[in-house]
Amino acid sequence: MKIAVYGKGGIGKSTTSCNISAALAKRGKKVLQIGCDPKHDSTFTLTGFLIPTIIDTLKEKDYHYENVWPEDVIYQGYGGVNCVEAGGPPAGAGCGGYVVGETVKLLKELNAFDEYDIILFDVLGDVVCGGFAAPLNYADYCLIVTDNGFDALFAANRIAASVREKARTHPLRLAGLIGNRTNKRDLIDKYTSAVPMPVLEVLPLIDDIRISRVKGKTIFEMAEKAPHLQPVCDYYLNIADQILARPEGVVPQDAPDRELFNLLSDFYLNPPTVPQPQGELLMV
Ligand code: SF4
Repeated sequence: MKIAVYGKGGIGKSTTSCNISAALAKRGKKVLQIGCDPKHDSTFTLTGFLIPTIIDTLKEKDYHYENVWPEDVIYQGYGGVNCVEAGGPPAGAGCGGYVVGETVKLLKELNAFDEYDIILFDVLGDVVCGGFAAPLNYADYCLIVTDNGFDALFAANRIAASVREKARTHPLRLAGLIGNRTNKRDLIDKYTSAVPMPVLEVLPLIDDIRISRVKGKTIFEMAEKAPHLQPVCDYYLNIADQILARPEGVVPQDAPDRELFNLLSDFYLNPPTVPQPQGELLMV
């Protein structure tokens, strides 16, 4: 099964991806995570360091694919999750989609593309141009990471539009949204009432997750020495279990930009009224 994880930049996509990968590995699956962000830090939480990218390795070998070995580009991370970083085109030149294509081509040449139970692409999601939508060509499911805010849901809607477009020619489904770093989900609910799609999980803001990222560890690794973190792991195990159940998912009917803008801004301009507690009756 191949999964593409998208979401607005800075939303915690890579941390979420790494913890889902670790959760899938905990469920006994052979997992490969492919970072598709020029920042090439997608897998840092799994490996604890910035691994060399496919593009850098190919450049070093003068694009002689036959001289690249699996150990040059595939690194082992926590829980046995294998990790690859596609890398990015040179700044100001080249196409992110080309980089993803080259990565898949090389993995196929190394006979590594079909040997995993799960391949998870972690993709930059602000711009869903043809290039950055490329991983959707290989995916069975898309997952979108969002928070409870306007910008992330606006990006989510653009990603949903890309899924709808790709689903015309590929057996691709949107598995659903993952709410991240939010104690509230009212705007997420407002969005999904207009654009129906499953919400797989909503994670509150948990400082231990942020700390684990900085330390280059998944929350599962941290929980080995801090068992009180097990309930945090359970969020990711829940997502992993839903993925492994091969959800039906949806082909989303994204909202037109203007309609979405009105819907989301109306939420801020006319916040839902919270019922006030009844005042105590004054007995005289
Ligand atoms: S398709 Fe996207 S990634 Fe490729 S060059 Fe155009 S903007 Fe960049």
